[in-house]
Amino acid sequence: MTRILILVFIAGFIVFFLRYKKTVKLAELPAGYRDLLLAHVAFYRGLDEAGKKRFEEKIKELLGYIHIHGVKTEVTDLDRLLIASSGVIPIFGFPEWKYYNLRDILLYPGAFNEIDFNIKEDSDILGMVGSGTMQRMMILSKPALHHGFENTSGRENTGIHEFVHLLDKEDGDVDGFPEALLDKQYTLPWLNLVAEEIESIKEGRSDFNGYGAKNKAEFFAVAAEYFFEQPGIFKEQHPELYELMTRIFNQRPNVNNGPVS
Ligand SMILES: [Zn+2]
Repeated sequence: MTRILILVFIAGFIVFFLRYKKTVKLAELPAGYRDLLLAHVAFYRGLDEAGKKRFEEKIKELLGYIHIHGVKTEVTDLDRLLIASSGVIPIFGFPEWKYYNLRDILLYPGAFNEIDFNIKEDSDILGMVGSGTMQRMMILSKPALHHGFENTSGRENTGIHEFVHLLDKEDGDVDGFPEALLDKQYTLPWLNLVAEEIESIKEGRSDFNGYGAKNKAEFFAVAAEYFFEQPGIFKEQHPELYELMTRIFNQRPNVNNGPVS
């Protein structure tokens, strides 16, 4: 009898431990979060009801394991929702994904200096993911974060851009090639298309943001912004690249997402 009791106790303990381990702390969403998401996040608007629910759960999860710090600026509910949306959009095709390489986000009142991270209004640096002593850290300019989700932003979204660098970094390098996400057979087609498009940017024949010509990593991040901001136009203009992007991100964003007329 005692033995059975001990066994039951051990079994109970194991079940408790497994459940405990599985539990991820979920953040509480602010009041009115649905209206805020509907008003500001086109990707969310384009989802069906089940998709919207899943998106909200992913936001709670992400906000549960990252810390957002305002640097000389206040962090509002909308800031938190936009940061989380920037992170959830690129990984929406991977239900289990977590950004293990991210812990803190510093929200800046504007652009900053890449060298010492001081606020610098005339700089064009609006976001970055850290390395070295800045490991697991991201810096975002608050106006740039907001601008990315406005209808007038075109195909740019700084938040998505920086989170895509993290996705790229998951396999060790920020090299513009997410090895883990693309089958080997697509490696060559991907690298060829990227090289071709970078050439087009340099020759002024491309509709990609010119920053994408800097290197393959920036091209990948810039292409992802365009892919999620204006998927319909992206698909029309770059059908082959579009197909490979759907494989990398394991999703097809709603082609109706984009500027609201
Ligand atoms: Zn970048």
